[in-house]
Amino acid sequence: MKSRTRFAPSPTGYMHIGNLRTALYEYLIAKSQGGDFVLRIEDTDQKRYVEGATDIIYSTLKKVGMFWDEGPDIGGNFGPYVQSERKKIYAQYAHQLVELGGAHYCFCKAQDEEERENQEASGLKFEDPCKHLSIDEAKKKIAAGEPFVVRQNINKKGVSVFEDVVYGKIEIDYDELDEGVLLKSDGLPTYNFANVIDDHLMQISHVVRGNEYISSTPKYNLIYEAFGWTPPIYVHVPPVMKDAQHKLSKRNGDASFQDLVAKGYLPEAILNYIALLGWNPGTEQEIFSLAELEKVFTCERLNKSPSIFDITKLKWMNGCYIRSLSPESFHELALPYYKKCLTRDVNLEFLSTVLQPRVETLAEIEENIDFIENLPFYSSTLYENKKMKTDEQIAKSSLMLAKEALVAQTVWTNESLFETLKNVAAEHNLKNGQILYPVRIALSGKQTTPGGATEIAVVLGKKTTLERIDLALTLL
Ligand code: GLU
Repeated sequence: MKSRTRFAPSPTGYMHIGNLRTALYEYLIAKSQGGDFVLRIEDTDQKRYVEGATDIIYSTLKKVGMFWDEGPDIGGNFGPYVQSERKKIYAQYAHQLVELGGAHYCFCKAQDEEERENQEASGLKFEDPCKHLSIDEAKKKIAAGEPFVVRQNINKKGVSVFEDVVYGKIEIDYDELDEGVLLKSDGLPTYNFANVIDDHLMQISHVVRGNEYISSTPKYNLIYEAFGWTPPIYVHVPPVMKDAQHKLSKRNGDASFQDLVAKGYLPEAILNYIALLGWNPGTEQEIFSLAELEKVFTCERLNKSPSIFDITKLKWMNGCYIRSLSPESFHELALPYYKKCLTRDVNLEFLSTVLQPRVETLAEIEENIDFIENLPFYSSTLYENKKMKTDEQIAKSSLMLAKEALVAQTVWTNESLFETLKNVAAEHNLKNGQILYPVRIALSGKQTTPGGATEIAVVLGKKTTLERIDLALTLL
């Protein structure tokens, strides 16, 4: 049988990292076996519907390079791929399930519902009066316009047993299952019904989802059984955690793909990092492109213990991806950050070459270049540095020497500037740092900067460099 997996997000307005990881594992299962990856939008919970949310799903998957073979926008042989457009299909199967004995029509009113919830909360099984109605009696009520839901029958006793690729053999007592609603009074299905119908009709071979669905899986299996269908291969994955106790949630600020991209993480790095959050390649390799993952991924290496989202590790990985970009690509990605905080006419191409090896996220660009736009206030005590063997007096004479040399400088490149200042140091029996360090402070107002004194001078250009040295001299 051909491998077919589906990503079935609800359009909630952002892409949780855990959901993206589920999508990735689904994608990898399909692609590593030459199968199809299907996108299905689960929008039956109208209360949770957020305008524009489907576009976020599309754009996220495209950004990380996970293209789907079938989906709402491109169609396919098993559509429609949006659940709200499949209303008729669910209704037809819900009625069939009633005929097959897997469900019943239920006319309980709000007060009965309350009673049901109270009884179930206290561990009792609610005896649904509607279960005893014959189908004909129920149909009469429906024909008379009485609102109804279709509710699952859990008639089996004993233990439900099923296999999960990650968790192995799972046993759940039928007594623990509630007779939940499958089709609501508005005619829309609940997740518990729609997932079974859709996965069967779309010929899904592997269902990957969060382990919170394990406890409901016996209910789904009962539906498959009632229809005489074969359930899919189940692959339940543990949650992504913030720490040992808490799941990563939207409140944490790093929980969504969109949050991370806004903080300067590259989509490829995020994808690589989350691949390893719950799966291991069995080797020391940590950097994987999506194409490489397709080659090495196997379900057997999925972990059942929850993994903690480690932002430091992601940052490190992001740094690796930033460094591996071509200079042109990095420059392109850096430009919006420059635009945001620089109005000065500076050498941006060169600035990119200074920053690329030094930042781990794109957002760090901003904090690294603030001094370029506005020289911060600084105290001349910054010149006192034992390691560099500088103090205010040395700084003053060094800056005067540097200025003289730089005024005469015609070629304004890092190499030539470095050569010039090194020669100035040698001529006056100074260490290189005794010239370069004061120049760095004068140009940036900071002790540490991305790049050395001459690199900053190239970024700032000759005019600003000389102006800042002049200013520094007036402060000494
Ligand atoms: N719509 C469900 C969710 O977003 C999908 C669960 C599943 O993959 O079956 O949690």
